[in-house]
Amino acid sequence: MQKKLDQLKGEFLEKLNLTKTERDLEKIYMDYFGRKGKLTEVFKDVKNVAVEEKPIIGKIINDIKIEAEKVYSEMKETLTNNKQQTINNKQLFDPTVPGTLREVGSLHPTTIIKNELNDAFRQMGFEIYDPAEEITSEGYAFDSMNFPPDHPARESMDTFWIKQQTTNNKQQTTNGFERLCLRPHLTGASVRFMQTHQPPFRFVYPGRVFRSEATDAGHEATFYQYEALIVDDKISFSAGKILVKAILERVFGKEIKIRMRAGFFPFVEPGFEIDMECQVCGGKGCSVCKHKGWVEIMPGGAPHPNVLKAGGLDPKKWQGFYINVGLDRLAMMKFGIDDIRLMHSGDLRFLKQF
Ligand SMILES: [Zn+2]
Repeated sequence: MQKKLDQLKGEFLEKLNLTKTERDLEKIYMDYFGRKGKLTEVFKDVKNVAVEEKPIIGKIINDIKIEAEKVYSEMKETLTNNKQQTINNKQLFDPTVPGTLREVGSLHPTTIIKNELNDAFRQMGFEIYDPAEEITSEGYAFDSMNFPPDHPARESMDTFWIKQQTTNNKQQTTNGFERLCLRPHLTGASVRFMQTHQPPFRFVYPGRVFRSEATDAGHEATFYQYEALIVDDKISFSAGKILVKAILERVFGKEIKIRMRAGFFPFVEPGFEIDMECQVCGGKGCSVCKHKGWVEIMPGGAPHPNVLKAGGLDPKKWQGFYINVGLDRLAMMKFGIDDIRLMHSGDLRFLKQF
């Protein structure tokens, strides 16, 4: 493997040094480091390497990435400068010189999945809800979600609280002043929906959420969720399972192995956690699934009676079923992306592949 890596690295650097245009530069980069790039393919084999060799190969891979990135940036700068030089040197306008092609944009992988899910739910008779606010109050984010006052999720460790200088900035409630935060999940907005609509209803909505946590290949401080809620006078639990299967089959175009585990969340009773087989490694184990072969894809369950009450609904009269999908993670599974940080990097080399 080491030999193969060395050989490909040599090839890559040689080609890069001979590049004359930015277009070729991008192409060569993608040929080696793109989603199906030659080096990317070899990097994937690291999972088959003996455990004791893993750190050594890991370091070699890391060094290759750093070196490649450095040479790539240098070449890019040189080519850009050369181009500018040529333009500056041209005294007269030459109409025969081919024009610069405009870059064509593409949809972000998360947007692709969001659109697919919106289509699927519209067909199932769901309303697409659009709660625009990304700043919310402690009341909606935690109190109405049945989080006890001392729940650790309320701490600054997990939530981005907004500094409030004067009482004027604070949201006045009947209980006094309330803290504001970047929404840590979408579910608070579901309570707003319940407060302003008469059941029965079924709706879905996508949205960006924020968590104050350390980032790694599987975690980001901001990501997208997709929430679905059905409220009716009678809902069977199997309807929920069918919903989950339908979503995954729609996104992946094939049957996906899932497992459901009892899960405790303050806002659902009963609650469960749904895992899907990791589609990046096919269940063998990789950095995305933390070598477990399974990825937590969504929590779900029946909204807790206190959540229904917060939404102004009588829990004796109404039942609900709720799921909340991590959109970025679904996109990663679908497209075989192994680092969530790429999703928000704004790196065009990454985005152009979709
Ligand atoms: Zn995996």
